[in-house]
Amino acid sequence: MSVYTCPECAFVYDEDQGVPREGFPPGTPFSEVPDDWTCPDCGVRDKLDFVVAAPEAPAPGGPEGA
Ligand SMILES: [Zn+2]
Repeated sequence: MSVYTCPECAFVYDEDQGVPREGFPPGTPFSEVPDDWTCPDCGVRDKLDFVVAAPEAPAPGGPEGA
């Protein structure tokens, strides 16, 4: 599955983990996230602004406790 990151705050949406606090259980494909969903961390960027990140490539700044 894919990982998507917010270009504003580097919030990560991992399809394997979902975002339970946002109502997306683990395994929820990003395609099932509503287009008007906004980043829960910065609230600035929408789903459409998120960019795909390679799961095996840790984000700049180091891996975030997986
Ligand atoms: Zn964000």
